Amino acid sequence: MGAPADHLAEAFHGLADHLRFLQALGVKELPLSREYLAGPGGGLRRLEQAIEGCTRCKLCRGRRTIVFGSGPAEAGLMLIGEGPGEEEDRQGKPFVGRAGQLLTRMLESVGISRDEVYITNIVKCRPPGNRNPEPDEIAACAPFLDGQLAAIRPRIVCALGTFAAQTLLRTREPIGKLRGRVHAFGAIPLIPTFHPAFLLRNPGPQYRRLAWEDMKLLRREYDRARGG
Ligand code: SF4
Repeated sequence: MGAPADHLAEAFHGLADHLRFLQALGVKELPLSREYLAGPGGGLRRLEQAIEGCTRCKLCRGRRTIVFGSGPAEAGLMLIGEGPGEEEDRQGKPFVGRAGQLLTRMLESVGISRDEVYITNIVKCRPPGNRNPEPDEIAACAPFLDGQLAAIRPRIVCALGTFAAQTLLRTREPIGKLRGRVHAFGAIPLIPTFHPAFLLRNPGPQYRRLAWEDMKLLRREYDRARGG
């Protein structure tokens, strides 16, 4: 267990991150209360309240639900995809349907339970026809992802698919070049791998083998990040 000073420093970091998030959303005043020093769960709940009915970008026009994210607020591992698909938009949860089931199996193959990870996307509303999110949509939604990262403070991040990896790492390199190694995402190690929907469309053994290598790397880095 850390010293009281460590806990205090962590609380102030969380508060500073949250204030930056509110500033990015254009909030100018806030009713200060004890809630602002609450832990990751409180931070996520406030974000969910803030995103309710969001119309910050044009994706709001075609969505059925806002797919915020799912998983424990204290998760050590955060997985980030690009955006909700049709089934996610219907159910309001990320990575459901066939791609979600494959993701669950990929995690379980290296002994990681889906219940212990937090899963979200770069944008929280479904792009029409499952097209890639556009730069203005990513920029509009970025404060929510930043807020999730600040609240959860994951020890390791996994980017699912080309788009998420390129966006988070601010690069144009294809996933084939990005995967298979650990990148720095600020102070957090980030491991890119294929999107499970891509693996379903390309079931060749070569992609499955590479995805398996990525999962083993993720497991190793996850253990290392937790001090295991
Ligand atoms: Fe708001 Fe993000 Fe949905 Fe755009 S994608 S409307 S910014 S929640």
